[in-house]
Amino acid sequence: MPHLFESKDSFKENFKEAVSDAYGRDFEDTYPEERYIVLGNMIRDFAGEHWRETKNAIKKTESKQLYYFSMEFLMGRLMTSNLMNLNIYDVVKDGLKDLGMDINDMENIESDAGLGNGGLGRLAACFMDSLASLDLAGHGNCIRYRYGLFKQKIENNQQIELPDCWLKNGNVWEVWKPQHAVKVKFGGYVDGYMDGYGKFHAQHHPDFVVRAVPYDEPIVGYHTTTTNTLRLWDAEVDEDSVNSGGLNEYLNQVTAITANVYPDDSTIEGKRLRLTQEYFFVCAGIDQIIRSHLRVYPSLDNLGDKVAIQLNDTHPVLVIPELMRVLLDDYFYDWDDAWNIVTKTVAYTNHTVMAEALEKWPQDMVRSLLPRLYMIIEEINRRFKYDVDHRGLCGIFNNVSILKEGQVHMANLAVVGSHSVNGVAKLHSEILVNDVFKDFVTIYPNKFNNKTNGITHRRWLLFSNPQLTKLLEETIGDEFKTNPEKLEDLMAHVEDEALQTKFMDVKLERKKILAAYVKENLGIDIDVNSIFDCQAKRLHAYKRQLLNIFHVMYLYLRMKQDPSFRIYPRTFFYSAKAAASYDLAKEIIKLINMVANVVNNDPEISKYMKVVFIPNYSVSIAEILLNAADVSEQISTAGKEASGTGNMKYMMNGAITLGTLDGANVEIVERVGYENAEIFGLHVEDINELRHENSYNAWNLYNSSYNIRMVIDSLKNCTWSNDPNEFKLINNDLMMRNDEFFVLADFEAYVYAQEKVQARYMDKSRWAKTMLINIAKSGYFSSDRTISEYAKEIWDLKPLSFEK
Ligand SMILES: *Cc1c(COP(=O)(O)O)cnc(C)c1O
Repeated sequence: MPHLFESKDSFKENFKEAVSDAYGRDFEDTYPEERYIVLGNMIRDFAGEHWRETKNAIKKTESKQLYYFSMEFLMGRLMTSNLMNLNIYDVVKDGLKDLGMDINDMENIESDAGLGNGGLGRLAACFMDSLASLDLAGHGNCIRYRYGLFKQKIENNQQIELPDCWLKNGNVWEVWKPQHAVKVKFGGYVDGYMDGYGKFHAQHHPDFVVRAVPYDEPIVGYHTTTTNTLRLWDAEVDEDSVNSGGLNEYLNQVTAITANVYPDDSTIEGKRLRLTQEYFFVCAGIDQIIRSHLRVYPSLDNLGDKVAIQLNDTHPVLVIPELMRVLLDDYFYDWDDAWNIVTKTVAYTNHTVMAEALEKWPQDMVRSLLPRLYMIIEEINRRFKYDVDHRGLCGIFNNVSILKEGQVHMANLAVVGSHSVNGVAKLHSEILVNDVFKDFVTIYPNKFNNKTNGITHRRWLLFSNPQLTKLLEETIGDEFKTNPEKLEDLMAHVEDEALQTKFMDVKLERKKILAAYVKENLGIDIDVNSIFDCQAKRLHAYKRQLLNIFHVMYLYLRMKQDPSFRIYPRTFFYSAKAAASYDLAKEIIKLINMVANVVNNDPEISKYMKVVFIPNYSVSIAEILLNAADVSEQISTAGKEASGTGNMKYMMNGAITLGTLDGANVEIVERVGYENAEIFGLHVEDINELRHENSYNAWNLYNSSYNIRMVIDSLKNCTWSNDPNEFKLINNDLMMRNDEFFVLADFEAYVYAQEKVQARYMDKSRWAKTMLINIAKSGYFSSDRTISEYAKEIWDLKPLSFEK
């Protein structure tokens, strides 16, 4: 069947007419934003046909479906990705060109969908792309936040948070579905009564009801028919309710639910609003799953055969008691039958071992906001205790209890109520089994497994680095596009000097693109022949941006002191948002920017190095920053970074990893070999030992190391700021609170590793070979591999069949 993207001419004709019809003006008189909206809608509607076919195929073949519940989806922009996945990029690009338009201008009108904090949300987005591209029926469930995390601006060297109005030009990908609205109930009280059969029935009298209204986005696979759904729930008022606080309070309360992404992914504050958000999208998502299941099947008995639910961290863990509630109260299941269905359906992914980031809620808050769910959580815990005691394991119950010390421990609830618990890198999963969930392993020895994270090679290689993609095609053919493990074929060519030269030219071209962005947006001139050394990720003490900037400070101070000490030219790039309430992180941003001012304005030293802080780290920034890198900084304190995915994006674009043995860095080195990465620093075991024996003392390092003393003293002696107290939090964190993340402990090793990086760079051919090896070995880190493992080992999900 011919379609309007069939040819350039048909596209042009239809597009011009659609724009003109939509705005009642000649095409020539319309605005770029208007054209963008029409183009987006045309692409979405084009995907609509596959969307329908996918839904029909699922129904007809009674296929199992996955629902990925995540508080965050960091999708970035979708225009390029959708056009390429639908295989209509060139038609549209050429057609627009004929109309005097540049496709890049259209692409640049789109705002990033920044519905997330960082890695966790970006993982969810990569998973969506892989699911559809592998013909797996897997949908996303999240909140339609009106504002993204925040837009970061740097003013007087400091982070300013501005609203991120990602919807200001509308969202061309979404379809509003008010007919699928769900009522979500909060607060109030629960009445219970026994029926004639002695069965308990609960009646919830809520204080507060909101309507959850879905907006659906099609998620199109790469050259596949499969088109899944990302469902984002908006909160609207319910015409028939108001709460005890009156109309205005009710309206404000409803508006607040979907206002903002919770601006912190690593610490939890007792925020009732956050708990409200969590239940809001969980309740709505479960309701939709139940209803669509019952449209096809007579009962919920086979829910676990037809539906898999994956919990992305503990934020959606209320899925477990909510699904119990529906089965018990609405469909009158017995407890044991309901519990079997729930645990068969639900699986949980852990993302952190940081104690302060393991989610806990005050019992009183859960009881008052979600009275019926709280009763169910109590009963889950009571039965769990009975079970543990009966296995003769009563000594450990207190460690694994869901309710203790007045709090609901969400990770414990997740482990008890899921059939699978996975970590996100080998090392992380080992730490879960040996430490965080040790006692659970005794109870459920078979529940735990590893699924090393991945990234979609389509966005992070094919679309964001067309220059490298082209070179790879010329060298190894294009099979790697659909089978990324085929990148390994590049190993046969890594010694080829002609290829090495071509590759270095590609890298140079990417560096020029980044340099142009930096010049245009920040007014800084950078040397594209310098080593591009990049650290871009959320700002957090454990990620140790501080260690990185300390190295820069050390180099500067040493070059100032010793005119015979000079380095090979380097540009240090940083990009990072700090949570608005995280004062130490914000002070580190300030330090980086103040160091940048001093270094970049020093006429002598700036010949050897520049420091660039790129504001507003986001998917779109990542797309131009990471593939220009020579050095990928992955320097977290060992044991703290669950996996990292930034590390994989750099690797796939050739950068060498300068890293600690943490998260997925371990698996990166395992593949490229120690000779093709630069690994330094304390290992997890070393750090555990230092902690355990309480033998680490930051002052000893300060007193014994001239370099450390020089750097620390420079924080207070007006080298970077005229105010000696400017960096007090940093100084106190290291020197008064004994450097919790071992920055000083790893400093000398890091400086030495950086010297070795420079030495490697001097051998251009060897360097190019290392970069090519990194690319060749990166196929494993495609999220296609990750998703295939989830599908096989956790979800029991098979590719859809579209036979007529
Ligand atoms: C990949 C990515 C992350 C995760 O980076 P890490 O280095 O793994 O912490 C965060 N934010 C954005 C925008 C990303 O693209």
